[in-house]
This record gives sequence, structure tokens and C-alpha cells, in this order.
Amino acid sequence: MNGAVVAIDGPAGTGKSTVSRGLARELGARYLDTGCMYRIVTLAVLRAGADLNDPAAIAAVDAPMSVGFDPDDSRAYLGTEDVSAEIRGDAVTAAVSAVSAVPAVRARLVARQQELAAEAGSVVVEGRDIGTVVLTGADVKIFLTASAEVRAQRRNDQNIAAGLGDDYPRVLADVQRRDELDSTRAASPLRPAADAVIVDTGDMTQAEVVAHLAELVRNKNEVLQ
Ligand code: C5P
Repeated sequence: MNGAVVAIDGPAGTGKSTVSRGLARELGARYLDTGCMYRIVTLAVLRAGADLNDPAAIAAVDAPMSVGFDPDDSRAYLGTEDVSAEIRGDAVTAAVSAVSAVPAVRARLVARQQELAAEAGSVVVEGRDIGTVVLTGADVKIFLTASAEVRAQRRNDQNIAAGLGDDYPRVLADVQRRDELDSTRAASPLRPAADAVIVDTGDMTQAEVVAHLAELVRNKNEVLQ
């Protein structure tokens, strides 16, 4: 396979990260997690104490970052500090929708994502607006979905396994809140590209989803060559 660019979008809890990593491994491609970039900026904004209701204050925060490009090593750095664990914590997760709704933040990160993808050769890029904004010319666009209930159940099971407690109603409310914020924001709302293949992961294991997507990419690539 030569230089296939695969865009994977969809809401939280569809198994997007695990599936995107698995697909990159399967294809021998690089992997770029754009959500991680929004999370790094959010951490910098929280540390700077900027007001989350003030887009200009958010946009003014400097967040020098670097992110791993390898499906087996996608560590995240703010400056030289490894912030991979901290950006997954509750504080960043609660604030990231507000930060990612700021157009100036999006413009900066989209430009950076386009540069990174252009350097990558074959790459699987994961996010919310990859097929619609960042890489509109991607060879294959995939939009992963699953009902809010299925996604909340998966997240709650992960929390239980990680010793973080069992609270399905709270997790469901959080999934619905983030869906609402991400799909109704003015700047790049979450929606499938017109030419995306929509895959409902509700009744599939992650291995089945990876195998299905790899087949889609290989078929598409044969048609392209
Ligand atoms: O994928 P992840 O849950 O880490 O993304 C965190 C947040 O970053 C999302 O809820 C969304 O607000 C934002 N995001 C975005 N555009 C992307 C990737 C993530 O707005 N391409």
C-alpha cells in the first residue's frame, strides 16, 4: 500500500482510538491522534488559569507541543514535559470541549495536523473533523458511530475495570453532554463527511471493526491504483 491517508471521525466512546491504532498497525501506517492535541492545549489553558468563558484568553495561551506518530508510542508533550497521563484526567476532559470550540485554537491545530499528515506517508488520522475539514482529500473517510447508551456502557465498564467506580447514569449524561457540545458548536461541528463510510460499532468487537476497516482501505486502494 502506498501513501494511503485514512480519516477516522466519530464521537467519544465508539472505540475510535483503539480501532485507529489497530488499523494503523494493520496497514503499517503512522497514527495521529488529533484529540490529544486539543487536550494538550486544554491542559496549558488550565495551567495558565485562563477563563474558559473567554475565547480570546484561551486563544492567547501558548502550548508548544509534540505528539508521537507511532501507533505503539503516541506520547504527548507540553514543551518537554510528558503529559500523556494528565491529559486523560477529569479536569482536561471536562474543559476540552470549551477549548476546542475556539476558532483560533482550531485554526492553529488544523494547520499543524495538515503539516504532520503531509510528512507521514501512509497515515491514519483520528478526530472529529478530519474528513470534513483537516484532510478533505483523504483516500478513505470513515465515521464511527454507536448509540449514546452503548458508548456510555463501554466507558462505564472501562471505569469499573480501572477502579474508578460504577456510575452509568453519570457517564451517560457526560457522553450526551459532550455529543451535544461537539455537534452543535459553530466551528467545525461533528458530522460525517458526505463521502464518509459510516460504520456502526455497536454490535462489533474492536478486532472486527479493525478487520472491516482494513478491508475497506485495501479495496479503496485497489480502485485508486
Ligand atoms: O478524541 P478525544 O476524546 O481525545 O478528543 C477530546 C476532545 O477534543 C473532543 O471531545 C472534542 O471536543 C475535541 N476534538 C475536536 N476535534 C478533533 C479532535 C478532538 O474538536 N479533531
